[in-house]
Amino acid sequence: MNKLEQEASNWMKERYKDMKLQEYQEKAAEFAIYPKTHVITYPALGLAGEAGEVANKVKKFIRDGADRESFEVKKMEIAAEIGDVLWYCAALANDLGFELSALAAANLNKLQGRKDRGKISGDGDNR
Ligand SMILES: [Mg+2]
Repeated sequence: MNKLEQEASNWMKERYKDMKLQEYQEKAAEFAIYPKTHVITYPALGLAGEAGEVANKVKKFIRDGADRESFEVKKMEIAAEIGDVLWYCAALANDLGFELSALAAANLNKLQGRKDRGKISGDGDNR
């Protein structure tokens, strides 16, 4: 990451450091420019595509390795893809009428329940 990119990254971190998921979801909706005939489907496909981009960047990191400097660059590239995943999660949640923050809380609640029951490991959605 060059100096200008680092400064931009730092500026973004400072500007949005206190952003809540609800605020993010509302702002993300401003960029949801896709045919209304394809709500739900469009962001679901985009989510799968961006998750694939995350996986591909991690795969290439495993394949190619990295020295310290390129590790930082690759880490930021993966972070950007995680952001893309988040955007599609927000868009899909919007299309389905859910608040992203509520989904996040429900997910943590589910995981806590599994942990409390000793079921973090294993298979099945309803452990
Ligand atoms: Mg991407």
